[in-house]
Amino acid sequence: MTKPTEFKAQKQSLPGQQSKMKPEPEVIRKGYKGSGKLKEKKALITGGDSGIGRSVAVYFAREGADVAIVYLSEDKDAKETQRLVEKEGQQCHLIKGDLKSESFCKKAINETKEQLGGLNILVNNAAVQHPQDALQKISKKQLQETFETNIFSFFHLSKLALDHFKEGDTIINTSSVTTYRGSEHLVDYASTKGAIVGFTRSLALMAAKDKIRVNGVAPGPIWTPLIPATFDDVEKFGQDTALGRAGQPSEVGPAYVFLASEDSSYITGQFIHVNGGEVVGG
Ligand code: NAD
Ligand code: MG
Repeated sequence: MTKPTEFKAQKQSLPGQQSKMKPEPEVIRKGYKGSGKLKEKKALITGGDSGIGRSVAVYFAREGADVAIVYLSEDKDAKETQRLVEKEGQQCHLIKGDLKSESFCKKAINETKEQLGGLNILVNNAAVQHPQDALQKISKKQLQETFETNIFSFFHLSKLALDHFKEGDTIINTSSVTTYRGSEHLVDYASTKGAIVGFTRSLALMAAKDKIRVNGVAPGPIWTPLIPATFDDVEKFGQDTALGRAGQPSEVGPAYVFLASEDSSYITGQFIHVNGGEVVGG
C-alpha cells in the first residue's frame, strides 16, 4: 500500500497519464479472488483507461465480465487496461472519443453491443476538473466543458443504454465526496457531482419498474492521474481523512463489483462512500 509520504514533491504537470505517475497507482488488490460474480456480463466503463475506471475494468474482468472502455486521448493507458483485462481472459474493446458529443455517446453504446454481443452494466465515470479559487475565474467555456463531460454525458449514455437493458442490468455513476462536503476550489465540478446524485436517485426510481438498478460511488481522495494533473500540492493529498492517507484505485473497484452484481439486488438509488472515513449524509 502506498503511504501518503511517498507522494512527496510529486506535482507533475502531466497530461493525465497513469504510466507517468510516481508511484504508479495500484489497480487491483494483490490476491483478490474472483468468483464469477459478473460471469457473462458485458460492461461499458467510461474513463476506463486509467485511475478508478481502469481498476473497475480489471475487477470486472476478474469477476468474469467482458468490458468496453471509453477514453479521451490516452492511447497508451487504454492499451494497458486492455492488456490487463485480456490477462484475466476477458475481452476489452477500446473506444476513443469525446463524450461531450451525443453522437459519440451513441457510437460508444452501439460499438459495445456489437463488439461484446450485449450490454448489461454501464459505468458512467469519466470526468474533468479545473480548480479555480474564485467564482469569477470559472469561464463559461470551463462551465460548459465541466457540465457536458461530467453530467450531460451520463444522461446521453444512460438514455441509450436503457434501450438495450433488461431486468437485472445496472447503471453505476461516479460522484465525489466534494458533493457532500463542498469544495472551495472545485465549485463547478462539485456542482456536477451533486447533479449526479440527484440524477442517480431519480433515475433509480424511474427504472425500478423495469427491475433495473441505478447506484453510485462517491470516492474521497484517490491516487489517480486526475490528481497530479490538476492539483499543485499533492503532498498532503488524503492525509486529512480519518485513515490518514489517500486511497488507491484498487480500494474503490470492489464497490463497483458489489453494485454491478446480484449481491446488491435490493439496493438502488444509493451511494457507497469510499472516502477514508468521512461521515457524509446520503
Ligand atoms: P482519471 O483521470 O484516471 O479518469 C478520468 C478519465 O475520464 C480520463 O482517463 C479520460 O480519458 C476520461 N475523460 C475525461 N473527459 C472525457 C471526455 N470528454 N470524453 C471521454 N473521456 C473523457 O481520474 P479518476 O480520478 O480515476 O476519475 C474517475 C472518476 O472518479 C471521475 O468521475 C472523478 O470525478 C471521480 N473522483 C475521483 C477522485 C480522486 O480523488 N481521484 C475523487 C472523487 C471522485
Ligand atoms: Mg486517463
